[in-house]
Amino acid sequence: MDVNEVPLLEVRDLKVHFVIKKRIGGVKGVVRAVDGVSLKIRKGDVIALVGESGCGKTTLGKAIAGLVKPTEGTILWKGRDVWKMYREDPKGFFEYKLRVQYMPQDPYSAFNPSKTVFEILCTPLLKWKRVTSRAECIDYVLKILSDIKVTPPEEYIFRYPHQLSGGERQRILFALITSVEPDVVVADEPITAVDVALRVDLMNLMLEYWERRRVAYVFISHELASARYITEKTGGKIGVMYLGKFVEFGPPRAVIENPLHPYTQALVDAAPELDLEIARKKRLRLREVDIPSATNPPKGCRFHTRCPYAMDICTEKEPPLIEVENGRYVRCWLYAKR
Ligand code: SF4
Repeated sequence: MDVNEVPLLEVRDLKVHFVIKKRIGGVKGVVRAVDGVSLKIRKGDVIALVGESGCGKTTLGKAIAGLVKPTEGTILWKGRDVWKMYREDPKGFFEYKLRVQYMPQDPYSAFNPSKTVFEILCTPLLKWKRVTSRAECIDYVLKILSDIKVTPPEEYIFRYPHQLSGGERQRILFALITSVEPDVVVADEPITAVDVALRVDLMNLMLEYWERRRVAYVFISHELASARYITEKTGGKIGVMYLGKFVEFGPPRAVIENPLHPYTQALVDAAPELDLEIARKKRLRLREVDIPSATNPPKGCRFHTRCPYAMDICTEKEPPLIEVENGRYVRCWLYAKR
């Protein structure tokens, strides 16, 4: 990979804050959902965003896909500021929105329940001129259904969403998202709505598509096992988020087998363990179980209220995100110069 090559997508010091209004007027608070994130995505990159609910991973994913406007910071698509394009070059913005697709967690929210699988898949193909007629669309959709192993395709093409299983709906959602041949897919908890037994199948479908097209994935997950699966098979990276910021970022094996940040250690320890002996030996005890509010994040290190290693500096000064080894970053005073 040429490191000087302009990334497909670059996020620079991104902040997305939401103002909560009082019922009777005035401001109740500001949720700092994403609070200073930088990231580069090149062709074929796979980045898994991991963290508890409320850590900002979905908001970051939506901002990357242009669904949420940043409060501060910049998102560049092939070197061009996407929100400047929105104002000054609608065609360029339209192209960026086409090339970066967001796959929501709940396939139902993406489907019109009164439309058949054929209509669901054919509409974008006609809109983006991948086909020129509904007749041509039938062959195209049958092929898509075979490719995603929703078979026999003739049986499924005229079914409605409620006539599909959770796994089939998620596969068809993936086919819908990829029918326009995007360069980046932001997949928001794609396996959460799928039966456990079918999760690996869905990830394998995503991996097969990655092999074919070297699409870049931003894979959002609240658990480490699926993040590890998809990033290890693609040479990807895991980014662990806590209260709107990255606290650790690096290759999956390093992050999971040798987590540096106390929060990553806690996430690894929290993963369900089949071996009860190993589960008993799990080591890190957090000082607090609950995550603090993103409207009023703790001063200094945002993790200090829960961290068993917290020192005086942690309550006063925010640690920087530093590169501790090639491609591996951590935000913690245990590793940074004080
Ligand atoms: Fe814990 Fe301090 Fe590191 Fe934060 S900076 S994770 S409080 S040791």
